[in-house]
Amino acid sequence: MLRLNTAEMSQTTGPTSDLFGAVGATFYMVRNLMCRVKQPAMQALLFASVGASHALASSVPDDYFHTGAGARYLRRADEAIVVKPVRENVTVLMGSGGNITVLSGKDGKFLVDAGISKRHEKVQAALDRIGPAPLRYVVNTHWHWDHTDGNAWMHAAGATIVAQENTARHLTETTHVNAWNWTFDPVPEAARPTLLIRDEKVFDFAGNKVEVENFGHGHTDGDLWVYFRDADVLALGDTFWNGFYPYIDNEDGGSIDGAIKWANQAVARTTDHTIVVPGHGPVGTRAQLIEFRDMLTTVRANVAALMQQGKSLDEIVAARPSAAFDDNWGHFVFNGEQFTRMVYAGLLATHPKPSGS
Ligand SMILES: [Zn+2]
Repeated sequence: MLRLNTAEMSQTTGPTSDLFGAVGATFYMVRNLMCRVKQPAMQALLFASVGASHALASSVPDDYFHTGAGARYLRRADEAIVVKPVRENVTVLMGSGGNITVLSGKDGKFLVDAGISKRHEKVQAALDRIGPAPLRYVVNTHWHWDHTDGNAWMHAAGATIVAQENTARHLTETTHVNAWNWTFDPVPEAARPTLLIRDEKVFDFAGNKVEVENFGHGHTDGDLWVYFRDADVLALGDTFWNGFYPYIDNEDGGSIDGAIKWANQAVARTTDHTIVVPGHGPVGTRAQLIEFRDMLTTVRANVAALMQQGKSLDEIVAARPSAAFDDNWGHFVFNGEQFTRMVYAGLLATHPKPSGS
């Protein structure tokens, strides 16, 4: 348990080490992302950033792969994969982007999320240690890079990539995320989902029922959860971050209300026996899922009340509507202020200010 938390928490570094970590990440980025970054301006930026990294760390671009969560996951990939046996034939791998859940049967493996491609041989080795059966299915819980970048090598290893229709669309289009200051190009043909789900699909896999479902917009516009019914393990992707403020992709259909709706669905579907796997953070329980749901609900209510009073975003941030949770939840990717801004943006998009306020 300590090892697991240490490995996860080692991603938590201050802004200074983020900056210097980003310098090391730059060379990796240039080598591996040029093929996905077609815009000449962005290519120039990447090359420029190499020189700048030598000269002055403070000129490292402030974007997903240099100072944001992407840089954090790239650094983490240099460390060991944490293998957490969960229950029966279900295992969770941690340390390659988002958590990867694995159901291993004698005829093959059914995975939830693909992690990232950097050092993917470590993920392959961990999968081989679980058992010799080949990869059969990989469900992308949503389109984000830290859950889908491993699609190409997993497809090459034999997996059919499964995703919600909107996730498949994001992966086949250019998607810019302002909050990450990054433009993601379409992924290569072989990395694209080919088995698409709109609402739900139940797989009969190695004698197990595997229920894959969407409940409308949540963390993004294309989330899926995967429930391994026989083992009673629910893998929630990024609709659950265990013990940390979550990212919510307001620009691609996510919102605080969607996040709360998904958390309520998960609470309703689980019991105290259920093991709940988050997209980020340690493997958890229904009680922890309820704490997460209650945190979301309370921060939302606090932000909404301040908006009703006609307060500006800066005034709302200054009022610290997440203060009661910051010590416990604000020490991974996002602090209380950043999460407050995310909640605000989601409310603004789904509940525009009444006129006159
Ligand atoms: Zn995500």
